[in-house]
Amino acid sequence: MNALADRIDALLPQTQCRRCGYPDCRAYAKAVATGKTDINRCPPGGEETLQALAKLTGRSAAAGIDPVLGGFTPGRAAVIIEPLCIGCTKCIQACPVDAIVGAPKQMHTVIEALCTGCELCIPPCPVDCIRMQPARGTTEGMAIPAPGSQQADFFRARYRARSARLAREQAEHHAHLHRKEMAAGVQDEVIARRKAEIAAAVERVWRKRLQRKQRPPERGGGSR
Ligand code: SF4
Ligand code: SF4
Ligand code: SF4
Repeated sequence: MNALADRIDALLPQTQCRRCGYPDCRAYAKAVATGKTDINRCPPGGEETLQALAKLTGRSAAAGIDPVLGGFTPGRAAVIIEPLCIGCTKCIQACPVDAIVGAPKQMHTVIEALCTGCELCIPPCPVDCIRMQPARGTTEGMAIPAPGSQQADFFRARYRARSARLAREQAEHHAHLHRKEMAAGVQDEVIARRKAEIAAAVERVWRKRLQRKQRPPERGGGSR
């Protein structure tokens, strides 16, 4: 089944836009391969992808792209209206292919050649300063990236690289938290041991005082 998912994935445009209802192109490819979903749920791929999927899977393309998912969108790229940008970094976090550069509290920019046109950066922007525009070099009705093209492969590779980086960062974060917890645990242990030592020392002092009080007075030592 993985081999079929690979072949389906190879026909998808790799915008990673989630319009199909799956978290990425690969997840949609798997769902199509296992028969869990229809072949007409990729608006960025348009008719070209639909026909290619129909040919590969032997399923019907007659229904066309599911209109509920919105229409086919030819190649577009995001652009940030830079003077309005407040540098919140929310768009960077949303971009599936690391196509945005910027730093906290500084202006952000989209690198057009890296942008898949997925539009995932638009909803999180608190000041609504991201727009979509036709991608450079596109012609009317042309899907960008064209399914199965080198550009699609490039976007897939960038998406995978980002996913791997995020997974690595998350693992490092968990490891850091674990180390912190361990260190805090060791510290708690040291404090608890110290407290117990102090409590034992205090008790020893009290016991000695009590013993001194209970001891009978020495004979012949005092005057009347
Ligand atoms: S490009 Fe198509 S398959 Fe990939 S996430 Fe978008 S809708 Fe889904
Ligand atoms: S810049 Fe925006 S539209 Fe372009 S790939 Fe990143 S999230 Fe998608
Ligand atoms: S989300 Fe909007 S305001 Fe925030 S950094 Fe991106 S473009 Fe700038």
